[in-house]
Amino acid sequence: MSAHIGVTGLAVMGANLARNFARNGYTVALHNRSVEKTDALLNQHGDEGDFVRTESLQELVDSLQKPRRVLIMVKAGKPVDSVIEQLTPLLEEGDIVIDAGNSHYEDTRRREAALAEKGLHFVGIGVSGGEEGALLGPSIMPGGSRESYDSLGPMLEKISAKYDGDPCCRWIGTDGAGHFVKMVHNGIEYADMQVIGEAFDLLRSGAGIEPAEQAEIFTEWNKGELSSFLIEITAEVLAHTDAKTSKPFIDVVVDSAGQKGTGRWTVVSALELGSPVSGIAESVFARGLSSQRDQRALAQDVLAGHEQQVQVPEGFVEDVRQALFASKLVSYAQGIDMLTSAAKEYGWELKLDEIASLWRAGCIIRAELLDDIMKAYADEDRPENLLFAPAFAEAIAAAVPAWRRVVATAVQLGIPVPVFSSSLAYYDGLRRKRLPAALTQGLRDLFGAHTYRRVDAEGTFHTQWSGDKSEVEAVDTH
Ligand code: NAP
Repeated sequence: MSAHIGVTGLAVMGANLARNFARNGYTVALHNRSVEKTDALLNQHGDEGDFVRTESLQELVDSLQKPRRVLIMVKAGKPVDSVIEQLTPLLEEGDIVIDAGNSHYEDTRRREAALAEKGLHFVGIGVSGGEEGALLGPSIMPGGSRESYDSLGPMLEKISAKYDGDPCCRWIGTDGAGHFVKMVHNGIEYADMQVIGEAFDLLRSGAGIEPAEQAEIFTEWNKGELSSFLIEITAEVLAHTDAKTSKPFIDVVVDSAGQKGTGRWTVVSALELGSPVSGIAESVFARGLSSQRDQRALAQDVLAGHEQQVQVPEGFVEDVRQALFASKLVSYAQGIDMLTSAAKEYGWELKLDEIASLWRAGCIIRAELLDDIMKAYADEDRPENLLFAPAFAEAIAAAVPAWRRVVATAVQLGIPVPVFSSSLAYYDGLRRKRLPAALTQGLRDLFGAHTYRRVDAEGTFHTQWSGDKSEVEAVDTH
């Protein structure tokens, strides 16, 4: 039997993607470095569709229809290079190698260029939705050549999540574009989770609302403009009671957040692009601070807070909801702005409406909001920044008074709200015609002759600070 696609790497993600293809009517050739995982999958789920068991990469390649499609789902990093190295001599021009793991987009760009020299297509695809998504329908962000998508796309669209019948899978752009967009998705996910955490902290430490009651609040919030997978599961986690202690589950969990690196990658890349993703960056730093448990324990004895014992304002719960919504909007706006910067840098024609559309289902940041974001970018009059789209400009304006009250209250009470407050600072910075960056330029010119531009003349200038302070035209050294 010749298979439509081969999957190598049958740990949880690879096995579930293979099963998803098979359940959708494709014949799937299976391979894993150690054959036990292949046999386990066949024993437990072999009746879900048509599978071909193989023990070597040669057997895997021989079992495939041409052009061959081989999907690699092994541990990200060196193992991907190792599998590519073993696989490529076995393939022919026009065959497609797919990496569906969480690879860094620069690795994907490198691998794509190397395989293109051999006449092979290399497609890095971002897959979001975790184990369950891989099996039941993930959000899929494929990069690589447009030509490879013609052959691979229909299969990916078939196994993807659907939103109102629309597949959550679109060709994103060449080489590493798919993995880049998946990385930024994860960055937004970091910010999304951090703003939820900040809301939880404000409601508990500020308003004294216990987790079980908060679960009801989040359930209510999930019915409105905040409606999303993450708000839904927040209610579930907060409602959970620890069986061992009968305490709220959240109180027996160590408050040190883990990270696998995609948030950090997003911030590093944003720094290189000069893209101000402050919400994502603060979320990554917040996880870092959460992990410094020893320093935090010491600080409680050593550092004074001088908190003001203010009462939270009336209507605080609704204020927090609005501040959460506004901060979340800013994080999405910043992430999308970063995509625009990357598109310029890497020559990708990213279609922001399509990207928002495929985040509407299957992935972790799925939210009602994304349908509106998609519509904003589908408009002929595409906004320069998501916050400029009339619907969002209005929504955020309505939330601003509550947002300011919440941040002010948090500061008085000494409750850290890094994303609520930095998002408000970004919003205020964006709205300012003049920023103190003019002073930064003055200082840079004085200590380093870095030059500056004038508001009233073309050209680049330098003031002779150590001489008579006269101004001269200069070569641009920005
Ligand atoms: P994993 O634990 O990352 O990797 C285990 C798999 O890699 C096994 O099949 C293992 O084979 C194979 N492998 C490791 N080193 C190898 C090598 N040098 N040569 C050949 N095979 C090698 O598996 P996973 O959790 O299923 O994740 C797979 C990919 O999906 C990763 O990139 C991960 O980051 C990503 N992921 C994505 C999501 C998501 O939501 N999108 C969630 C989880 C993971 P053996 O059985 O022989 O050891």
